[in-house]
Amino acid sequence: MSLKGKVALVTGSTSGIGLGIAHALAASGAHIMFNGLGDRAAIDTLVRDTAAKFSVKTAFSGADMTKPAEIRGMIADAQKTLGGLDILVNNAGIQFVAAVEDFPAEKWDAIIAINLSAAFHAISAAIPAMKQKGWGRIINIASAHGLVASPHKAAYVAAKHGIVGLTKVVAIEAANDGVTVNAICPGWVLTPLVQKQLEDRAKQNGTSVEQEKKAMLAETQPMQQFSSPEEIGALAVFLCSEGAKTITGVPLSIDGGWVAH
Ligand code: NAD
Repeated sequence: MSLKGKVALVTGSTSGIGLGIAHALAASGAHIMFNGLGDRAAIDTLVRDTAAKFSVKTAFSGADMTKPAEIRGMIADAQKTLGGLDILVNNAGIQFVAAVEDFPAEKWDAIIAINLSAAFHAISAAIPAMKQKGWGRIINIASAHGLVASPHKAAYVAAKHGIVGLTKVVAIEAANDGVTVNAICPGWVLTPLVQKQLEDRAKQNGTSVEQEKKAMLAETQPMQQFSSPEEIGALAVFLCSEGAKTITGVPLSIDGGWVAH
């Protein structure tokens, strides 16, 4: 499953699932453009360490996923700095939890911008060169919430259902250009995004984070365990392989059985 010589851009790869995917792609030989927020010195170390550990080229774009012009600039930057762009992983995402009548409009706008519109802007900028080359892989990180709903997550569920729809449209458009487009739909993965929800729940319910971990899994997943960023990364690597070249337009669940019941 060698991706030697391919160039991958993973949005939101300074943390959590995106970082797991970036490391898995680098371990398979791909050069990596990181993106995301965070402490710049820590990011520089991450970018350097990844290059040294996996003997690949790495770079970083600080593009803000709420800003279309910065997203287009990031794609151009990857193409220029790393010599092309073969694999695009739209992963950056945020969460906010509130009943729809209390949901702040600015949180709605931010979630739609980062979790959905950013993927449109990145795909639109990246796909012409992939089509021209006759090879490309686009992976959108959706969620179990791209397929089913939970209360109090109006913006997140709308954005994730939207990105599954976007995945299908672009997959059809690129079907005969050597470019596949798929969505990964994780269940619970223990990342900073979920840690915050656990801490909020523990505060609200007067419980511990450990108790809330068990409760969270019990509410939605038949399998009572979290998936790991490494497991999501392994699925992304498979989708980039030649064995997966006719898998396109698919939302792939990796969710401990969440949407099966
Ligand atoms: P995380 O908070 O650990 O990582 C989010 C990443 O997005 C970080 O690198 C952050 O810097 C980046 N980011 C946020 N806002 C940004 C912005 N404006 N511009 C650029 N980068 C920005 O979260 P995670 O759990 O790893 O989530 C990654 C993706 O996986 C998200 O799309 C999320 O919806 C999805 N997902 C997560 C879970 C889970 O259980 N953790 C489940 C299903 C889907």
